[in-house]
Amino acid sequence: MAQEDDHKRTIVYGETALKYIRKNVLPAYPRFYELWYTYAAGFNHSLNRAINDIAGKAGHITTEQLQQIYNSFLSPTKLGDRIDEVGERISDEIADMVDILGQSVDSVSEYGASLEGAQEQLEDLDDPVKLKKLVGHMLKATKNTSASNKALQTQLMDSRRQIEELQESLEAIRYESLTDELTTLSNRKHFDHTIDRMVGDASETGEPLSLLLTDIDHFKKFNDTYGHQTGDQVLRLVALAVKQNVKGHDIACRYGGEEFAVLLPHTSLRQAVTVAEHIRRAVLSKELVKRSTGENLGRITISIGVSSFTKDDTTQSMIARADAALYAAKAAGRNLVRCETDPDVQNDSRVA
Ligand code: GH3
Ligand code: MG
Ligand code: MG
Repeated sequence: MAQEDDHKRTIVYGETALKYIRKNVLPAYPRFYELWYTYAAGFNHSLNRAINDIAGKAGHITTEQLQQIYNSFLSPTKLGDRIDEVGERISDEIADMVDILGQSVDSVSEYGASLEGAQEQLEDLDDPVKLKKLVGHMLKATKNTSASNKALQTQLMDSRRQIEELQESLEAIRYESLTDELTTLSNRKHFDHTIDRMVGDASETGEPLSLLLTDIDHFKKFNDTYGHQTGDQVLRLVALAVKQNVKGHDIACRYGGEEFAVLLPHTSLRQAVTVAEHIRRAVLSKELVKRSTGENLGRITISIGVSSFTKDDTTQSMIARADAALYAAKAAGRNLVRCETDPDVQNDSRVA
């Protein structure tokens, strides 16, 4: 059944991809098929956003733009290689700009020299014919300089545009390197950096900082029953519930396979428990319907553990307390929120 669904979906995505290829009159390179297939499937959000941004503004998309999107989002080249490549292209563009500016300086000095020459000639000039010739000469020099400056300006504008495009590519690479592809939440790497930074800030300022650790209940059973792909849909749904219940400076991350973490700066333990309750209820309120078949899959639940920064905390001790609270929520029957001060939470990890 699951295989049949996958097959049907593949045909739909494939046909949609061909439709886009036809509409954009693209050459028969397999990478364009891969790109549009991914677009039709919608699981690479950054790629869809990049295409929509261009197609939305310009109404169409060129082969070069698609190639660039392919390089940014699908090319099997490693992220590091792509960063190197963009860096190299930025250096080339900067070298071109310096060259253009050098040419501009040369052309201005040349013009200056020709003006000085004219001044010398003016000093001993009494013949109107010679004067006319000299003025003609100066006019020509002025026109030449103006034309060459215009050409240099066009080249500079071109370089500037190229650098702006490269900056966008860098931004796309940065976004991708910090984002979890399946859920579009921040990834673990982003979480690790952010919690270190936030713990540092909280110990300096004394502002509260709280952490939620979330784990889906009995998810293994769900996967075993309905298949991994449906499991992935559930991960997206939980991610959405998390996203919809946090705001501002909060950072929601995919912490592990089916675990999510939320960092809540300027938020006390009590307030964090309220946020956790909202997320728990949001997930519980969603009835799962398998898109392809309409089959009702019931509901899923999550358990959440909450901890708050205390002055002697390290990143690890704060995570350990949220984890202990999460463990207590599971032990108490799941579909629950527990925080570090609840009586059934074993806080051996609280640092002395
Ligand atoms: P518990 O209520 O105790 O959390 O039970 P559980 O079955 O959810 O156990 P656990 O938290 O250890 O869940 C691990 C399971 O989560 C294993 C695997 O089936 C599923 N899982 C982990 N990562 C992914 C993923 O990326 N996609 C999918 N579909 N499933 C995943
Ligand atoms: Mg787990
Ligand atoms: Mg679980």
